[in-house]
Amino acid sequence: MTITPDTPRVYLDHNATAPLRPEARAAALAALEAPSNPSSVHAEGRRARATVEAARERVAALAGADPAGVVFTSGATEAAHLALSPDLRCGGRTGFERLLVSATEHAAVLRGHRFAPESVTVLPVGADGRLDLGALREALAAAGPAVVAVQAANNETGVLQPVAAVAGCVREWGGALVCDAVQAAGRIPCDALGADLLLLSGHKLGGLAGAGAVVVTGSRATLGSSVLSGGGQERGRRAGTENVAAIAAFGAAAAASAALPSPALRDGFEAALLASVPDAEIFGRAAPRLPNTSAFAVPGVSAERLLIALDLAGVAVSSGSACASGKVGRSHVLDAMKVKLGFTMGAIRVSFGWSSRESDVEILMSALSVSLDRMTRGRLRVAA
Ligand code: PLP
Repeated sequence: MTITPDTPRVYLDHNATAPLRPEARAAALAALEAPSNPSSVHAEGRRARATVEAARERVAALAGADPAGVVFTSGATEAAHLALSPDLRCGGRTGFERLLVSATEHAAVLRGHRFAPESVTVLPVGADGRLDLGALREALAAAGPAVVAVQAANNETGVLQPVAAVAGCVREWGGALVCDAVQAAGRIPCDALGADLLLLSGHKLGGLAGAGAVVVTGSRATLGSSVLSGGGQERGRRAGTENVAAIAAFGAAAAASAALPSPALRDGFEAALLASVPDAEIFGRAAPRLPNTSAFAVPGVSAERLLIALDLAGVAVSSGSACASGKVGRSHVLDAMKVKLGFTMGAIRVSFGWSSRESDVEILMSALSVSLDRMTRGRLRVAA
């Protein structure tokens, strides 16, 4: 197909943030209709409280948890800050001295939050991006009971971690498992992952930025001290007036995310890419992955230039390693997978989601064709 000025723009960056779902938009607008402080005792306050509690139930259902285990935060970064603390209680223990994190965690977790930097151990992954369980066992044997943070799915590659197996090891050693399920939620089942705590983010599901949650999934764990002190909101675990509109949108997006996506669009795209550019590298292809994410590089093609060319052609994707400033840097995820630097600097991430359709793949392939043809002066020919 040929891209013309009438071709609609295509958004394939759901892992950065998903477009607002209509259900979430309606829920947020309804919440904005009236003053919304859930702590107020008047009718408006009680209505806001009901909105927050309905959202709590929906988020709990997504996580397979009791609603009482859901603590709303401003997002997953704050949820990680609340969860990753030495005074977390789990399995009758507290006062954890070590935090073990997998090398491919999002920066929101990798920093270790309330653990001192010297008490954080980074665990290696294999070339497929999956955690090395042998290294985890060794680290647990050396550390004793520890808090372990392993994500369910990686934001750059979509690679899934063996969370159930990790949970088994962590329990054997009397530790606690915190699982960043930000990218997994709404894409794979997250109601029986086996972790003690889950981290979730509303805007990745099609809600608004400004709401996330830490979810205590069973009876083994209790959160440590709160990060924000003040009023007694969230049963004293997170002070501050709730962002009712964003929480309502989070709940609606969580409910709408119960229908999980198929990998058809991703598979169709990858088949078309490899048919056109056989030496393209698809990262993490040997591992189980999210159904919506494809991270790839074309030899000799810089991610920064390709990203801009695709954007000009009307397709929004992401560099596998874009930092907050939008600049393409070196990816710690691909480095941990020991991907060659040349490929790392070419990593592009395509992430589909609830608004994606088959025609998006055709438009993406056409945009790739035009962009790569220009960038490589016809050296690589991509069939659109
Ligand atoms: N964890 C993962 C895997 C992510 O992809 C992100 C956001 O990109 C976060 C955590 C942080 O989420 P939030 O934007 O809600 O703070």
